[in-house]
Amino acid sequence: MDIIRSLETMHALALGWRARGKKVGFVPTMGYLHRGHTTLIELMRQRCEILVVSIYVNPLQFGPSEDLSRYPRDPEGDRTRCEGAGCDILFMPDNLYPPDFRTTVSVGGVTTRWEGAERPTHFQGVATVVCRLFGLVQPTVAMFGEKDFQQFTVLQSMARDLAMGIEIVPGPLVRDHDGLALSSRNVYLSPTDRQRALSLHRALYLMRDHPSPVAAERVAAGRAALDCDHLDYLAIVDPDTLEPVERVDRELRAIATARYGGTRLLDNVALSP
Ligand code: AMP
Repeated sequence: MDIIRSLETMHALALGWRARGKKVGFVPTMGYLHRGHTTLIELMRQRCEILVVSIYVNPLQFGPSEDLSRYPRDPEGDRTRCEGAGCDILFMPDNLYPPDFRTTVSVGGVTTRWEGAERPTHFQGVATVVCRLFGLVQPTVAMFGEKDFQQFTVLQSMARDLAMGIEIVPGPLVRDHDGLALSSRNVYLSPTDRQRALSLHRALYLMRDHPSPVAAERVAAGRAALDCDHLDYLAIVDPDTLEPVERVDRELRAIATARYGGTRLLDNVALSP
């Protein structure tokens, strides 16, 4: 595995691969890698000839009161995990934006609700960094985890709307042994809050297995099962538009974000009628 820090070197390599018709797979991350990330890397390994993983904590996607400066980091551990999962090129730029950077990418519709409402500049930051990374890495196919379900939908919309010619593939949500969705931010949880946070996936499973076809009844049951300090949202939505639905009559998603102490946790499950 090679480690690349220079934007110019990354781009020159990528153009070489493109000229030779190589199938390039890409998994962008913010590091502090866990089994959720390495699962995506291993799955992508099977779909491409050259596998690039990026690690970059993107300031554009953090709000002013969010955890940018204390976002957890472990460059040595990340390097070992990437190599073990079959990565060819680990792209770890110190900075991704030149001083005169003046472009933002803004996806409409699917960004307005949920995470978009709670974190107004978040998806613009995500779409902008992914667009720039796509330009530098020139991937054929990129994988994003269903853990961040709305983010996946936003990036799939971006790639389609801008005719980027990059296949956007979902990766499965990976959970800890007790069901908690793996997240770099789980490290912030106190032992008590980590225990309470188990109610998040349990509430979603309860909504999935509930017999009622009425979405509001399932949401009420989930809400009653949830033990958190603040519920940002809990909803049953159409997986393409992310609009809330009234009836569970097709493939849908139950999505939730709740806070435990100062930590926001996201989770979701697939629902079928
Ligand atoms: P992050 O480093 O948190 O920005 O995540 C990088 C990629 O890993 C994103 O596509 C996430 O959706 C994905 N990811 C994070 N946690 C998980 C998980 N528990 N299971 C599957 N994918 C995940």
